[in-house]
Amino acid sequence: MASALTEKLSRLVKQIRGQARITEANVQDMLREVRMALLEADVALPVVRDFIARVKDKALGQEVVGSLTPGQALVGIIHRELAATMGEGVADVNLATQPPAVILMAGLQGAGKTTTTAKLAKWLIERRKKKVLTVSGDVYRPAAIEQLRTVTKQAGAEWFPSSPDQKPLDIARAALDHARKHYFDVLIVDTAGRLAIDEAMMQEIRALHAELKPVETLFVVDAMQGQDAVNTARAFKEALPLTGIVLTKLDGDSRGGAALSVRAVTGAPIKFAGVSEKIDGLELFDAERHAGRILG
Ligand code: GDP
Repeated sequence: MASALTEKLSRLVKQIRGQARITEANVQDMLREVRMALLEADVALPVVRDFIARVKDKALGQEVVGSLTPGQALVGIIHRELAATMGEGVADVNLATQPPAVILMAGLQGAGKTTTTAKLAKWLIERRKKKVLTVSGDVYRPAAIEQLRTVTKQAGAEWFPSSPDQKPLDIARAALDHARKHYFDVLIVDTAGRLAIDEAMMQEIRALHAELKPVETLFVVDAMQGQDAVNTARAFKEALPLTGIVLTKLDGDSRGGAALSVRAVTGAPIKFAGVSEKIDGLELFDAERHAGRILG
């Protein structure tokens, strides 16, 4: 991993001390470092290009105010632009609908859907005082249904049974019916994932979406996926109206550049970050903090 970008930038900042205005030359040098750092953080190339162009636009000719040097001002611009690109502030989960609010989980197998379903259930119970039901539509992997049952129990939520001999749409209808009858506030629907994107899987999840009319359709993506996250995100965005992203495995050693790419490709806000394997390892995504992590 490259030495921290902020450190490198500070060095450049020192070199350009004593100028009152950000010049083209200052910007070029610093942006070269930023570009490399973003590529090393696995941000997709077109996303890096766009980002650099925006920072350049904002920075060029900008007057430097107060006690800031042009370099410091530029670092500030880079940080702010990074945070803004990933979504300013903290995006909360949307439950503004007639209960039960349905949350549909989408993503590749191994991304962390089942774990996140249970983490989110626990989060909604504890932070929002909601009554939460989970159900698995993964009829291809009995182990996945069982896994959801186990983690739902750990979360203190309720689990609606399903089995491999049922159709995902029938499971969804039955779970929704149960949630209505028993006054659940939220129904979280875990879906089948595949190792790679395929049309049958996309059709199935589209049908589930049409049936359930979820208030949130969350795309779960592994931060360690790096460059591949872009293609996955694009495929899911084309199949579904995504309302948010959950970036998992941020406790790993990736710099989390996928956040920038996935946000750029889908346009959906990053709502949550998975920060451990444990049931309480879910946090609201904080773009400001994540910008700091990417800058290193
Ligand atoms: P699914 O196939 O998308 O349902 O993925 P799973 O929920 O089964 O998760 C796949 C693996 O990733 C499991 O071993 C999880 O424990 C692990 N995992 C999920 N989220 C996180 C996270 O935020 N951090 C870490 N370290 N591991 C995670």
